[in-house]
Amino acid sequence: MKIAIAGGSIAGLACALTLSCTGHEVHVFERSATPLRGRGGGVAVLRQMLRFLEQHGHQTRATLAVPTHRRRWIDIAGNVMHEDPELLPFSSWDAVYRSLCSMLPSAVIQYGRNVTTVAQDAHGIEIQFENGPPIRSDILIAADGTGSRLRSLLFPGTTSSYAGYIAWRGLVSESAFAPAEIADLIENITLFRSADELFMAFLIPSANGSLDAGQRRFNWLWYRNEADLAKVESFLTDRDGQRHHASIAAGALSEHSLAHLRKIAPERLPRILSKLLTSTESPFLQVIYDALSPSFASGRIALVGDAACTLRPHTASGTSKAADDAVSLAQALNASQTAESDTVRVLADWAEVRRRAVEPLLLKGPMLAKSFGLGYS
Ligand SMILES: Cc1cc2nc3c(=O)[nH]c(=O)nc-3n(C[C@H](O)[C@H](O)[C@H](O)COP(=O)(O)OP(=O)(O)OC[C@H]3O[C@@H](n4cnc5c(N)ncnc54)[C@H](O)[C@@H]3O)c2cc1C
Repeated sequence: MKIAIAGGSIAGLACALTLSCTGHEVHVFERSATPLRGRGGGVAVLRQMLRFLEQHGHQTRATLAVPTHRRRWIDIAGNVMHEDPELLPFSSWDAVYRSLCSMLPSAVIQYGRNVTTVAQDAHGIEIQFENGPPIRSDILIAADGTGSRLRSLLFPGTTSSYAGYIAWRGLVSESAFAPAEIADLIENITLFRSADELFMAFLIPSANGSLDAGQRRFNWLWYRNEADLAKVESFLTDRDGQRHHASIAAGALSEHSLAHLRKIAPERLPRILSKLLTSTESPFLQVIYDALSPSFASGRIALVGDAACTLRPHTASGTSKAADDAVSLAQALNASQTAESDTVRVLADWAEVRRRAVEPLLLKGPMLAKSFGLGYS
């Protein structure tokens, strides 16, 4: 089949990979004018994602991740309050993205192609773009993220809902600090919690994927409850005055947001964690939303990744879920290869099974957030 994919990030590329492996003609349309390098911060890479990359020929375990060995809670004075063993591979969004890109022929992905509208009929689907000619395909995969335009087109009235807290984030090179100063942070996921906030930090690979000591970067996230929607609006307005849906990229935070962050960090965080933040050149912001599509398919369109449902970051499952979406969709379509006319039914069946499968993760996120004192209760 000819399969179009809207969105060339983790979920879209994972689908491109599995569907081209099972013999389909795949085209990815990404609205960004250029590859998405440099976006995102650290991600915990769960076993499913590592297995997925390895099954597609990428040797990941040694090159993609910096393992942590302990989950360590500290108090405001920096003393260890509690620690548990935890072996979690951490990587960067960039490293996962690069691995996926490297496994696809570059002609598969077209940049600067913003999907605007779609029209389905009995034989296929017509896809229109903001610029460039329309195309026709047998199936469209909506991998256009948490603010999915396609989800809104298919299911009018469904929107993502603000979860009541935001995540300030940043990356800072390990080499910006004296080794003794950061010795306690190496190999640990370090956490600090106080009322209405949770800070965490861990090491991830360097921007070019190096895992060598001194080259790696600290990834930090500072979750903070923010009930004042006017404040959230102002944080989501970038340095050029443009309002964004859910995030502000590194380098685009307003002066007001930067000043706010740099003022509150030394007041509220243990010294070394505050230093990670104040040493970060370009912090960025992600506002936490919940989104669940009423169905993961409508006719010839399947929704995957954050467009289908956006999991809370505490589950560390977003990329693994995207990989599972891609594998299960390719399996469902492969099994139906002999009956092309059944495409709509196959997608509907896949959607139902998949939605049930992600339900436990959807419930787990708010529960974890609540246990940290985050979000609307
Ligand atoms: C604070 C935070 C921390 C996280 N930590 C982790 C973690 O530790 N581990 C983990 O596994 N996951 C984590 N995640 C989640 C993870 O990043 C995502 O779930 C995962 O990357 C899947 O994203 P996606 O590809 O579905 O969507 P996105 O990455 O949002 O991509 C959507 C793509 O679609 C494009 N697009 C949008 N509209 C259109 C259109 N109309 N036409 C064409 N293209 C379009 C966009 O430009 C974008 O490239 C975290 C998320 C947050 C917010």
